[in-house]
Amino acid sequence: MNSASSISLEFFPPRDIAAQEKLVRSAKQLLALHPSYVSVTFGAGGSTRSGTADTVSLMQNLGCEAAPHLSCIGSSRAVLTEILDAYRAAGIRRIVALRGDTPSGMGVEAGELRYASDLVRFIREHSGDWFHIEVAAYPEMHPQALNASEDLDHFVTKVKAGANSAITQYFFNADAYSDFVNRVRAKGVSIPIVPGIMPITNHSQLVRFSTMCGAEIPRWIRLRLAEFGDDRASIKAFGADVITRLCQRLLDQGAPGLHFYTLNNADSILAIHRGLS
Ligand code: FAD
Repeated sequence: MNSASSISLEFFPPRDIAAQEKLVRSAKQLLALHPSYVSVTFGAGGSTRSGTADTVSLMQNLGCEAAPHLSCIGSSRAVLTEILDAYRAAGIRRIVALRGDTPSGMGVEAGELRYASDLVRFIREHSGDWFHIEVAAYPEMHPQALNASEDLDHFVTKVKAGANSAITQYFFNADAYSDFVNRVRAKGVSIPIVPGIMPITNHSQLVRFSTMCGAEIPRWIRLRLAEFGDDRASIKAFGADVITRLCQRLLDQGAPGLHFYTLNNADSILAIHRGLS
């Protein structure tokens, strides 16, 4: 892989000791790829604030810059202030700032800050330029957005509030990424927009995630995956091939790096990375 392109990795907080041991094993293997930083999710799948902070500290101890994800949904300014101060005291310099997903039964108004742009503004007001702020971007549109133009305008608002760079939701259509970047650039936004990359290793999990987050699985990929049935080895080999070609195309067309959703597994990412020139 071209030395000008950086990679970053996303992990989620482990639920128990066995999962933590697996995470450490995977992280150690993946740190050999020299990621510029790793990020740790928050809230997703029921993970807690302390789970995120503990995992960030674990990653720092492994010698890597670690960035906690922070969502504002359901939270108050007082709680967010406490979290930001704790992260600053722990020497954390990068945060992935998100709205987060609404727990069922709650409206989007739950919490004092409504959108990620409000959180970015709040972080800048409270912590100045201490944190490098990453935000989320949606080349195939956020699933709750009314239309692609408004979604893009909301993204631009989030950047203008003080984001330094963005990580995209995963996608399988490279053209959706380049179209999104072109439209963002036309609005005068120049921050790096790093494609988020989801390895394909498990058919039913991929369908579940994609339905939730609005990522389109192209028909030809769905058909091939359906045909593999329970043959996990074939799914992984096919997935590695498809995603390696996607990554190569993104890098060739100028993506500033790749952000891998590791799901705390190393093998698929290592296989993809080996295939990149
Ligand atoms: P926003 O940017 O606030 O956008 C949410 C929706 O609101 C969009 O439809 C947008 O168009 C709309 N909107 C924004 N501003 C306005 C406005 N002023 N008026 C009207 N509509 C508006 N979730 C987790 O729970 N934990 C995680 O750790 C996590 N990590 C993620 C990491 C990445 C890289 C990505 C891409 C997503 C992640 N998510 C995570 C999922 C994310 O929380 C959801 O996609 C969530 O629904 C939106 O978060 P956001 O920060 O993109 O929200």
